[in-house]
Amino acid sequence: MSTRTILIAGNWKMNASLEMAAELIEGIKAGPPPSNVEMLVCPPFPYLSSAIALASGSSIHVGAQTCHSSGSGAHTGDVSTGMLKDLGCTHVIVGHSERRTDHGETDALVMAQASAAIDAGLVAVICVGETEAERDAGNTLDVVATQIAGSLPDAATAANAVIAYEPVWAIGTGRTPTTDEVQDVHAAIRANIASKLGLEAADGMRILYGGSMKPTNAKELLALPDVDGGLIGGASLKAEDFLGIARSAP
Ligand code: PEP
Repeated sequence: MSTRTILIAGNWKMNASLEMAAELIEGIKAGPPPSNVEMLVCPPFPYLSSAIALASGSSIHVGAQTCHSSGSGAHTGDVSTGMLKDLGCTHVIVGHSERRTDHGETDALVMAQASAAIDAGLVAVICVGETEAERDAGNTLDVVATQIAGSLPDAATAANAVIAYEPVWAIGTGRTPTTDEVQDVHAAIRANIASKLGLEAADGMRILYGGSMKPTNAKELLALPDVDGGLIGGASLKAEDFLGIARSAP
């Protein structure tokens, strides 16, 4: 039987304010979050330090939404994984489809970012997922296999890396694949991890589903054998919805 603990992660994207960040974290703390799941919030950079202070003493982890692959240097506007670790972050999302699209991030860059995260002692949440055109062409499994091969570092383990499968067409659209489709892709991703890192890492590594997850569909998604949590955008901006998803975990 798997020992994977469900991870419910909130990606706030470029949303919230100082006041809203405080309200959200206080709201999640007051929930209280269920004890059988791990909770993670990923606010924008400017709110990380206050989120970390507010979450301190609770079970809520705080992570960033991206990072640079270098430790330091002439990279105006960028943030290193060492800085995130210094601040008290525990996780960092890399390779979100919005970063891949808006900033031209490639698999090779995502692998370098994930490696930098792991080297700094952070957990890398590595995002993969197909576009609608790729799905319609029947290429979903090939696309995610290529992304896993290109973005998952050899140094990744079940303890320092998490995969988030996010079909691009399901993000923020209210649409989701069927549960059978989600399970098939997650099982294929686990096989991809096994061929890269071995069976033990594959069995232990969490694979989150992301894309229009909400309290009303979380239960059926989180019950799937290879779904080990969720990466949640819109519904992570309301404490009640985020908690509702967490409470749906088996
Ligand atoms: C996301 O962007 O990671 C995401 C899953 O967004 P949403 O939940 O809003 O679809």
